Amino acid sequence: MSKVAIIGRPNVGKSTIFNRLVGRKLALVDDQPGVTRDRREGEGRIADLAFTVIDTAGLEEGDPETLAGRMRAQTETALSDCDVIVFVIDARAGVTGTDRHFAAAIRRAGKPIIVLANKAESGAGRDGAYEAFSLGLGDPIPFSAEHGQGLGDLYDALVDAL
Ligand code: GDP
Ligand code: MG
Repeated sequence: MSKVAIIGRPNVGKSTIFNRLVGRKLALVDDQPGVTRDRREGEGRIADLAFTVIDTAGLEEGDPETLAGRMRAQTETALSDCDVIVFVIDARAGVTGTDRHFAAAIRRAGKPIIVLANKAESGAGRDGAYEAFSLGLGDPIPFSAEHGQGLGDLYDALVDAL
């Protein structure tokens, strides 16, 4: 089965997206950045499309002896292991320097990339979603993991990428 990795800095909503796709609360969601310390895999599904989905901790700078360093290594493993990368930004925060750093690492992986501008429910974060065009990774999809918005567009993008 094709593997979809959810990548992005801490707190953008990766685990919430994972739970939405898997349909069960397998990943820990928390307000504190970097709460997902273990990589998690589950069977994701949107309508008739089934795939393996990988949740990761946020990619961070750091040496392998520290938690931040292990989280970074975990993300790099997911990047090399997957068939499609779902890169998540927080549409309300816009594109941050850390997002740009991730974007560079993700581009190097040379895999199909889908950009999700999460937390964009009810038009909130429309500007942030717009900003994400400047990453040069393709058209960002306005998304809300909490409200289940954008799943149709994600479906179309996955069908194209897989
Ligand atoms: P992660 O660190 O990237 O895995 O982020 P989490 O999934 O743990 O979510 C971080 C915070 O963002 C939590 O408080 C979530 O409830 C919140 N969050 C996730 N998705 C959405 C969304 O679509 N809209 C809003 N408003 N908040 C969200
Ligand atoms: Mg998480």
